[in-house]
Amino acid sequence: MYVSDCLGVNEKGHLTVSGCDTVDLAKEYGTPVIVYSEDQIRQNCRDFVSSIDENYGGNGMVLYASKAFCCKKMCRICKEEGMGLDVVSGGELYTAIDAGFPTEKIYFHGNNKTVAELVYAVEHGVGRVVVDNIFELERLDKIAHDLGKKVKILLRIKPGIDAHTHDFIRTGQIDSKFGFALETGEAMDAVVKAISFTNIELVGLHCHIGSQIFDIDPFELAAKVMLEFMADIKQDKGIEFKELNLGGGFGIKYLKTDAPRPFTEYMKKVACVVKETCKALNLDMPFVLIEPGRSIVGAAAVTLYTVGAVKKIPDVRTYVSVDGGMTDNPRYILYQSKYEILCANKANEERSETVTVAGKCCESGDLVQEWAPLQKVEPGDILAVLSTGAYNYSMASNYNRVPRPPVVMVKDSKPELAIRGESFSDMVKNDL
Ligand SMILES: *Cc1c(COP(=O)(O)O)cnc(C)c1O
Repeated sequence: MYVSDCLGVNEKGHLTVSGCDTVDLAKEYGTPVIVYSEDQIRQNCRDFVSSIDENYGGNGMVLYASKAFCCKKMCRICKEEGMGLDVVSGGELYTAIDAGFPTEKIYFHGNNKTVAELVYAVEHGVGRVVVDNIFELERLDKIAHDLGKKVKILLRIKPGIDAHTHDFIRTGQIDSKFGFALETGEAMDAVVKAISFTNIELVGLHCHIGSQIFDIDPFELAAKVMLEFMADIKQDKGIEFKELNLGGGFGIKYLKTDAPRPFTEYMKKVACVVKETCKALNLDMPFVLIEPGRSIVGAAAVTLYTVGAVKKIPDVRTYVSVDGGMTDNPRYILYQSKYEILCANKANEERSETVTVAGKCCESGDLVQEWAPLQKVEPGDILAVLSTGAYNYSMASNYNRVPRPPVVMVKDSKPELAIRGESFSDMVKNDL
């Protein structure tokens, strides 16, 4: 019935997350509040891990792309579920280290890592630095030399795949700020340079073709292109890489009508392509990594708001204003992302109205959704926006000095605070 298995409706007609009444949660924690089903997150992790084990016979690893939702609790969950972690900044790396995450299972991405970030990563022994460009390659070799270390790296490659998704979240094509291009020979030059350095060990290649991708073909094509490049390197330079990181990007359900292919199907099909291509090109099977972010956490959370004002503009539209908005969920103002919204305390009633849900910021574009079906609501009702687990809290801001909301996780029907809500004094703590 809903976009996620963890959602339901109880006998009071209230929306539930893993059996927990969201209206009670709104009372207990206040609104806005982001509520995750920890059970659902862990199930998603287990499904990915068992799928990679099945399809690659244990010769692979799942890395959670922490930028989708990064906090210490999330790092601990990934550690307990036996996964690795993908980080893209010093702050994410710090969070993981502070949570006790094993650094050898951390992959450090990013198109412009600073010297300080690279030093921090090398000092703490991150598993792999995924090098994005030639400047970083040189910088990293020098840093590793100065610290007396040898650093294992992957090179980020643009495989030239055009995945059908929003322009801002496409990353595999040649016109992208990420990685080395194949077509121009830039990638091969980077390989040659990398193997000439003494404090760097090039162990493999990485690609990530975009996000919220519904088709399987672009993933199959990317795997094939990457392996063909590996075969070229083997032939030209006599080196065979051990690792292939195929990135993330698996689509999830935001709307009931969204129909992403189940990732188990993706895993199976891509594994087939990898095996067949390796055989055809006479390559050993590499250690395969995947990096799901959105598909681990996206559909596992809802955001709860309280309705403040309901403004009916005759013959124009109805604005339902809530006590959050672009500060906790900037995805609508960024990408016009679609969401299902419902009244948590009237979840059994029909969504008979068509409304625009607006945030509280001084910005006309601060909308959560336009022309959305919703139950007839009044001030004091609780609204639930579904599938807000990925790229919401992690993209939140303090615009208008609105404090970030708390994050709650429900496990075995019991809620627990994962991130405290910010206070007004937090808003001024760095002011001088
Ligand atoms: C963002 C990102 C991911 C995760 O993408 P999702 O769409 O959230 O699965 C994985 N790898 C890299 C390098 C990324 O930048």
